[in-house]
Amino acid sequence: MITLTGSPALKVQVMCEGIRYTPALGAAVAHAMPNYYPYRFKDGEPDPTGRGTATIPYLINLADGTEIRILGNGDSPWHIEGDLGQGYVLIDDRSGLRVPMVFEPLRPWQSSRTSDGMPFAQAGVTTHGDMLVINVAPGCEYFLHKHEGQSMRCSFCAYGAPDERTVHLGQKAGQVGIPQPTLERMREAMDAVIEQAGIRHIYLVGGSLTDWRAEGERFLQLARFVKQANARGIPVALGSGALPDDLIEQFHREQLVDHVCFNLEMWSEPLFAKVCPGKHRYVGYARWIAALETAVRLWGRGNVYSAMVAGIELEPEHGLEWEQAARIALEGAEDLCARGIVPIYSLVWPVGGRQRPDFHARIRSYFETLNTGYAEIRARHGLRVADSFMCHRCAYMQLECDIDRAAEAVAA
Ligand code: SF4
Repeated sequence: MITLTGSPALKVQVMCEGIRYTPALGAAVAHAMPNYYPYRFKDGEPDPTGRGTATIPYLINLADGTEIRILGNGDSPWHIEGDLGQGYVLIDDRSGLRVPMVFEPLRPWQSSRTSDGMPFAQAGVTTHGDMLVINVAPGCEYFLHKHEGQSMRCSFCAYGAPDERTVHLGQKAGQVGIPQPTLERMREAMDAVIEQAGIRHIYLVGGSLTDWRAEGERFLQLARFVKQANARGIPVALGSGALPDDLIEQFHREQLVDHVCFNLEMWSEPLFAKVCPGKHRYVGYARWIAALETAVRLWGRGNVYSAMVAGIELEPEHGLEWEQAARIALEGAEDLCARGIVPIYSLVWPVGGRQRPDFHARIRSYFETLNTGYAEIRARHGLRVADSFMCHRCAYMQLECDIDRAAEAVAA
């Protein structure tokens, strides 16, 4: 059994316990990349804004480059002190541990505009560390469909709703193609981000379509555009939903992407059907895995990934204790690795169950058990996360790259 030490051990604690508000954290947004989720003050927590919420930074970096997403939590033993001039320190109230850190900076591109006046921030690009995420069609059709009263969107998804972002990008329901002006604006933003943020990975994502062939055609258009715009040849990953075999082969034939990442999200068909009803209805569990296997045949073992949401199975409605949830997830890791597919586990806090005194402790036990067990599975199957796909500088809520890096440092 692997035991986490060093930065991975610190990271899993901070990911699972969050960080509570301090004036230093709030003031840091003057120079730090802002969080997509505001800090929500709990009842009775001192709230200097008087509004109940505050903008806080998104990401912190430790001295060794480890990246950690900030989740606000008024009950957390972790807080941040300092300022830009003197430096920041992450502090654990329990032990008094003080860890020097910096925030992911606010870069000039985030306040720049395209030549026709659109803010780059609305042009379909975001970053996590050295990863550029391109999402020019974020609206997901699963949000627009219901069956027997149940929405087809994934239960954890807070980002796929068609809204004002989709209007800025010219995305319309039922329209498969991406408008050319949207792509041209994205190219301007992409050039600036690559220049300023030391980008080493490009990840193409977007909302799903109920017709997987139409989704594949949209991503073909995007990947062809990015290929000719990507003058530095930065590795590109295809982050669409699962696609029909002939379209997967087309991506490979045209050498449009270096990696494939069709996100299964959840191991075991019953959980997949509950957590991802749209993926289950419009593609299906078996077809999803079969598409990942097709990609392995073309790109090879270790070049095909599947993002998984880890922790959402602890929602009370699923009736799982953390030990059962970890066992199911590890069975999935074993099965996927045997097929040459590398799952990547992102921590997603369950919404329910917060009244339980062990709410944070069980998330941590689950995520640590999953990640240590999965590290052994990866090693046994001779698989690792390709540095061209993602690395410790962009894995903001995942541990695989951190654990493998720590293990390699010990072995060296
Ligand atoms: S497929 Fe699921 S996770 Fe992806 S955008 Fe749609 S609802 Fe969200």
